[in-house]
Amino acid sequence: MFGKKSKEVKAEAAKASKTANMKKLEDLYYAAEDARKRAYAPYSDFKVGAALLVKPNEDSVLPINKIYTGVNIENGSYGATLCAERVAFAKAISDGILEYDIGENPFIAIAVSAGDEEALPCGICRQFMSEFAPEITIVTKADGQIRIRNLMQLLPEGFQLEKKEKEETEEPAEEKPADEKPAAEEVPEAVEPELIVEEPAENEEPAEETEE
Ligand code: ZN
Repeated sequence: MFGKKSKEVKAEAAKASKTANMKKLEDLYYAAEDARKRAYAPYSDFKVGAALLVKPNEDSVLPINKIYTGVNIENGSYGATLCAERVAFAKAISDGILEYDIGENPFIAIAVSAGDEEALPCGICRQFMSEFAPEITIVTKADGQIRIRNLMQLLPEGFQLEKKEKEETEEPAEEKPADEKPAAEEVPEAVEPELIVEEPAENEEPAEETEE
């Protein structure tokens, strides 16, 4: 017999992550629903809240079962809009969650609430989350019922890029070129541009001036 394929192993781990009991996931959903009130969605009025459950390992200095919420944040330049799920992850990561000894899969579940409509994470968010939590449980609500899925179901073959290994050798990183920071010192002071011309342009019909 061959060993299990990594997909199967991952699927098993995914199941394990589901063992977090239903009540907790339901509470997580309500946290997302509560966060949703703070969504900034003046253009679509489609408000979304997310709640990300992070569970560091027992030895971590971080509190167990920390929840980071997120909301969608729209922008008049539509492409700059952020989804609630990514905001929640950004909060957790910028809070330093990856800096601690938090175990292999600290991101247990993320709940997404869009009110009465069920909202599954968009494609960008699926990819974004798979970077940190390919096995995360997705919690939504449809027809009054809490629904549980796994990110593996929603993004079975997401894009992956091999990470560069951290260099922990004593050697300094490749020698930097000697020309450090020339730019910073050589930036000229801002000069007031001479754009204001007092008199109207006089070069409109220069050709006429020649008297011959
Ligand atoms: Zn999204």
